[in-house]
Amino acid sequence: IAPVTVAEKAVASEEQLYLLSFRDISELRRIDRMRSDFVANASHELRTPLASLRGFIETLLGPAREDPKARERFLVIMLDQVTRMSRLVDDLLSLSRLEVKSHLAPDQNIDLVPLLGHVRDALAPLAEDLDVAINLHLPEGKAEVLGDRDELVQVFENLIENACKYGQEGKAVDVYLRNGEGRPIEVSVVDRGAGIPAEHVPRLTERFYRVSVEDSRSKKGTGLGLAIVKHILTRHRARLIVHSKVGEGTEFTVRF
Ligand code: ADP
Repeated sequence: IAPVTVAEKAVASEEQLYLLSFRDISELRRIDRMRSDFVANASHELRTPLASLRGFIETLLGPAREDPKARERFLVIMLDQVTRMSRLVDDLLSLSRLEVKSHLAPDQNIDLVPLLGHVRDALAPLAEDLDVAINLHLPEGKAEVLGDRDELVQVFENLIENACKYGQEGKAVDVYLRNGEGRPIEVSVVDRGAGIPAEHVPRLTERFYRVSVEDSRSKKGTGLGLAIVKHILTRHRARLIVHSKVGEGTEFTVRF
């Protein structure tokens, strides 16, 4: 209604009125750049294993055709590449689904005590492979939050899996669930790995961000896990707090 009133007034008094509207587009530009960086990164991450698969298939159809040993070796590597690509596509889909429903508040009553037990069981084979024990420290009784079960499982799977991957072989990963009277419910995941240098901490939840080339080479992952964690926690109005000491280990805390 207001602009019409202004226009009417302008005609009535025969004055010329100009309506100036200012909008800061730097934030829009930033989001646009992030989106195109994201597409470029995702394409690159998919193109690399695809190129390698193509190379292996060509070798299998050509020089390695009659060599059962080479065939076996190549097929194992190819399976690894395909698994990596599936994981990447799953993570990309998770992120885009989360973006669609980011404005909806989750509304199930979730008890974190059995949920963490379930996550520990699901990660047991990986922990065994990496020679890490996952110790749960749970309070008596329930620890209920309003949430989405599958998403919270994904948060704790990502954090505990990271603690196993980047923690120290042979050392335990400790998971503490705190449910103090009158205090926020918190879950902390503590490892005794190499730690994260302070300058990397603010960037950990960026998509595709990995701390070191060494991590990207030697540890399986997509660099999307913590970006997914951040999206889910934002929807749950929960915070992610990181404490890390180089040479001692890292603690990721989710505060509801
Ligand atoms: P990734 O798939 O690479 O594990 P994430 O988004 O889960 O992706 O983590 C991003 C990066 O943060 C990892 O590549 C790793 O460099 C670092 N990181 C995550 N968790 C830990 C941890 N517990 N200890 C040390 N570094 C970690």
